Amino acid sequence: MKNKIQGLHHITAIAGNAKQNHDFYTKILGQRLVKKTVNFDDPGTYHFYYGNEHGTPGTLLTFFPWEGIGKGTPGNGMATEITYSVPAGSLEFWEQRFKENNVSFGEKGERFGETYLPFTDPDGLNLSFIIPKSADNREAFTTPEITIDTAVKGFHSTTLSLDKIEPTAKILTEIFGYTLLAQEGNRYRFVTDAVENANYIDLLEIPGGKRGYNAGGTNHHVAFRVPDEETQMAFRELILEKNFGITPKIDRDYFYSLYFREPGGVLFEIATDNPGFTVDEPLNELGTHLKLPKQHEYLREQLEQTLPKID
Ligand code: ZN
Repeated sequence: MKNKIQGLHHITAIAGNAKQNHDFYTKILGQRLVKKTVNFDDPGTYHFYYGNEHGTPGTLLTFFPWEGIGKGTPGNGMATEITYSVPAGSLEFWEQRFKENNVSFGEKGERFGETYLPFTDPDGLNLSFIIPKSADNREAFTTPEITIDTAVKGFHSTTLSLDKIEPTAKILTEIFGYTLLAQEGNRYRFVTDAVENANYIDLLEIPGGKRGYNAGGTNHHVAFRVPDEETQMAFRELILEKNFGITPKIDRDYFYSLYFREPGGVLFEIATDNPGFTVDEPLNELGTHLKLPKQHEYLREQLEQTLPKID
């Protein structure tokens, strides 16, 4: 369905040390680094994209690693949990792997009839693995240690913490095409039928809850997926009609972006599928070269010396 948002495109968070971030996501979680570039708005900082083999939208967690940044605090007005889908029966493997690698993790729990395992990355970012009730047929990226029986499939959902869910819920339902699926306590699950995966958003209502502080180990923005720029610009019109401020279309080399702050305080992005990550590297070499956008290419020599080494 072209007139609905196609679930999550990517989620971006802030990290501290680049190598620590890279090692955690590639070695411990077994994600593929699909693009090693810089923050287009701050080229002295990396921008890492982790996902499946192709860097398919809905699998992409991205980071700005700012060396020495202080620790942020998750809270209202922020995405406070990022949830990946993993295969049935794999949570015991992950608990064991987390123990062996000193990854901080919590007790397994259940939400809407699905079992999940919460854990944090080295900067304290809240993540979880969940076994979805309905089959997740996405092809996971595997490594010698993380086989198809245990490998991460991509996003299941993200949780936004909010003072009041209603204004944000209206964006999801009236503009993006989501519907309220279920409620458990103060957690409201929204779903879109436009895609089969990465199709849930949980809104957690915490009236008077502390605002989040955006720094290391916290979410920066949540990007929603559209197939192309034509659909993207149609959403821009809808958002303008509701009197929200929104940026013009911005070229991010691997997709086109629009940004707007939803009324609950979370920075939302609408990102296209086109042109994708193979626009400047072949599939088998994704993530192996430092890629710079043309406006920063003149800085290459300097950046290759100053950006932290990660391998
Ligand atoms: Zn983004």
